[in-house]
Amino acid sequence: MAIACADCGTEQDIPFMPVSTVAECVRCGRVLDSADSGITAALAWITALLFLLIAANAVPVGEVMLAGQTHIGYIASGVVELGSEDWPVLSLMFALFVIVFPIVRTGTLVMVLVAIWLRRRPHWLGRLYRLSQNLKLWSMPDVMVLAGLVIFARTQVQLNSQVLVGGWCLVAAAFLNMLVPWLLSPHHVWRKIMPDRNPPQNEAAMSCDACDLIVPLSMENTPCPRCRRVLWLRKPNALNRATALVLASYVLFFPAYYYPMSYSIQPNGVQPHTIISGVERLFSAGFWPAGIIIFSASILIPILKLIGLSWLLISVKLPTQRGLALRTRFHRLIHGIGRWSNTDPFIVALMGPMISFPSLANVHVGRAALPFALIVTLTMLASRFFDARLMWDAAYEHL
Ligand SMILES: [Zn+2]
Ligand SMILES: [Zn+2]
Repeated sequence: MAIACADCGTEQDIPFMPVSTVAECVRCGRVLDSADSGITAALAWITALLFLLIAANAVPVGEVMLAGQTHIGYIASGVVELGSEDWPVLSLMFALFVIVFPIVRTGTLVMVLVAIWLRRRPHWLGRLYRLSQNLKLWSMPDVMVLAGLVIFARTQVQLNSQVLVGGWCLVAAAFLNMLVPWLLSPHHVWRKIMPDRNPPQNEAAMSCDACDLIVPLSMENTPCPRCRRVLWLRKPNALNRATALVLASYVLFFPAYYYPMSYSIQPNGVQPHTIISGVERLFSAGFWPAGIIIFSASILIPILKLIGLSWLLISVKLPTQRGLALRTRFHRLIHGIGRWSNTDPFIVALMGPMISFPSLANVHVGRAALPFALIVTLTMLASRFFDARLMWDAAYEHL
């Protein structure tokens, strides 16, 4: 059966796949299908992941001790702290990325796999699996664990901090979450929901960009029979939407890097920390691994994403066939790594409730946290709205 690559539009047949093999697009290298461990094994692991996520939210993740006082922190403490410090948008983003989306993504995946396992095909199955797939990049237990690691490294010298059961559950959940793509091939699930089709004989074909189903071109603007997403030959308004979001991110760059990300209040006074001074402080205090993580997540990745997205947008307007596959791979890379930039906002959200010892040590959210978190979200949306196939169209039309 045929499949069309969602990144470059090439139609190709996927042969029978032996164990541990991966089928990549011949033109741009996108993983089209992989031989997974089967629905039953995946269902067992993903159900375990769901329980770990629920446990991580139900019990404390860590504790901090200073001068005889102990503070216990839950994941939800970050939501409450941001809300009480009058940062409702940050509080909502933290709640969605760290609590709601991971549980909804995993819960819906379990429901889809149970239905397939029971050989049921309710009409909402494709829609539910599409929702689960859409939430993949926006579920960030792994980013939260990285934030926790940096906090642990940074505070251990002055404060006595300890990871509790919830923290270990979150670490295990983050690890399992990263294994999901190896446990389960999305295309395997789509085929179980509805088999692939061969291209129509006497008509031009197009493919669904959510589930890769090949359909006749005449079906454009109608819902996909498999996942119910409206079928578009190319994503609508892709260039305008992505350009607007990239421009908004450039505007937010100044406040994000100029204002402090956080304030620490200690007996010797109030200390503001911008993103750049925070990285400098980590390196000068000898926390090299934490410094490299924050430098990469807060400076390198956002700049790489903004310049990269601008380059991709320009390359649609100035088409060339040179480096098309490279640019398509680059689009996939920046689409996948952008979420890691949330490390610093998550650190600030967690440090507030954990380090709250009146007259000894306090951490508060600074004015840069919101514009920075918005840059991360807007550039993630921009790379999602951008359609890499436009670069291929433009390059070949230009001939
Ligand atoms: Zn491709
Ligand atoms: Zn579809």
